[in-house]
Amino acid sequence: MAGLRTGFALMAAALLAGCATVPSQRAEFEAVRVALDGHIRTLASPEYGGRMPGTEGGQLTEKYVADTLAGYGYEAGAADGSWFQKVGIERFSPSSSSLVITGKGKPARFEGDGLIVRLRADGMLVPDSGVVFVGSGEGLHEGSLAGQVVLVRADDVQQLADDLLDAEPAAIVTLFDDQDRFDRLARNFRRGRYGLASEETETTAFALFAPGFTARLLDTLHVTDQQLGERAAEAEGPVVLDARAKLTVDQDKETVESANVIGVLHGRVKGSGTVMMLAHWDHLGTCGKEGDEDRLCNGAVDNASGVGVMLETARRIAAEGPLDRDLYVIGTTAEELGLLGAEAFAEDPPFPLPTVVAAFNMDTMAISPRGAPITVIGDGRTPLDHGIREVAESLGRKLDIREEHQEFVARQDGWALLSRDVPAVLVGTAMGDEAAFGGFMSSHYHRASDEWREDLELGGATEDILLHVALLHFFGNEASYRPGDD
Ligand SMILES: [Zn+2]
Repeated sequence: MAGLRTGFALMAAALLAGCATVPSQRAEFEAVRVALDGHIRTLASPEYGGRMPGTEGGQLTEKYVADTLAGYGYEAGAADGSWFQKVGIERFSPSSSSLVITGKGKPARFEGDGLIVRLRADGMLVPDSGVVFVGSGEGLHEGSLAGQVVLVRADDVQQLADDLLDAEPAAIVTLFDDQDRFDRLARNFRRGRYGLASEETETTAFALFAPGFTARLLDTLHVTDQQLGERAAEAEGPVVLDARAKLTVDQDKETVESANVIGVLHGRVKGSGTVMMLAHWDHLGTCGKEGDEDRLCNGAVDNASGVGVMLETARRIAAEGPLDRDLYVIGTTAEELGLLGAEAFAEDPPFPLPTVVAAFNMDTMAISPRGAPITVIGDGRTPLDHGIREVAESLGRKLDIREEHQEFVARQDGWALLSRDVPAVLVGTAMGDEAAFGGFMSSHYHRASDEWREDLELGGATEDILLHVALLHFFGNEASYRPGDD
């Protein structure tokens, strides 16, 4: 009986509280949604040009993030006292490449549109090397293919890439039998290979061979695709082919200056540590297919929405006064070019990384509707799991964390921190509605159609802002969270 009575009392209290708070909660939700919408609308507008690092639109974005944070009361947080941590980015694109294969007959020369090379280095000349076919990961070890030109099927390359790179060949030549697939990847490769100016260059070239080239190459080697497969299975490792290769790659190099934007809201308790938010401000610039009417990739969801979530969260925290811990807010550059801004930040942070208690990355947030469950990318890898659950439950939010979500862990900026043992997670609803997430990935993701619309779904992302405000209060204050206590 007692249970029932208590239950009734709680219900009545909840109802009464509900009557009083629902209209104000609704108004708060709407205010947050409108603020988020404003950021997305601005950053995804044509004026920002798809926010490619090193362009006018990129600089405009850097300024927008810095000015907005300054307006909320944040201070410049880069090590040199400015808002901008400079990030030097190099782009290498092949000006010409050729591969000459000498088998039993006369040499065959491959160059032009059917051979696409990607390499982060000034160029490459392999005057005379062996040619090896790799059909499986068997028999590959560190350095075992040093100096060789490796042939691999398009179907196998993704799965073998890590093992192949460990084997340190001079080049990995991917053989395509499907023109569409080749074209799609070739378009991506033609954008060039990006890296940090501070980074070491690569010693393995990635090459794509169009179907026509593949057929001619097999002719030169006097084998069929099927025979190669059989020989690889028999050998239980790489097959050394009776041929020599000469590879030449001439490259154009371009250097662009970009920046991570860094703001800080200093905490009340000196020495109590740091909490962080980060979101990549960059996108792809012009990425649509040649000939399409609209080729500008505005990146409304990816990642104007993440920047919007970060900025509105930052505004609400500052409006309530500082946390115990320093709060760093970072708009990273060049995520789309390989997490380069986040890497540059982690390599040279304006404060010691071990002081970071919790870091929240925000990427591609505006997808799911209100009420969608939350997932945590990086779940199980940090001491934050328990606190995140506690905070989410206190807001009445559901969690639905799945193994498949973790596939994204190394594909987001938080990885630059997590791989250096900084507790960094991506918390949000984007993947909470499977149909909505799948729909976005197969339609607008990295296409010109990822643009601002009146009816852009902001429900889940709006709730994510309120969640992050609560997460920062929890992890940013000593009374609620001390690392090591969990
Ligand atoms: Zn992206």
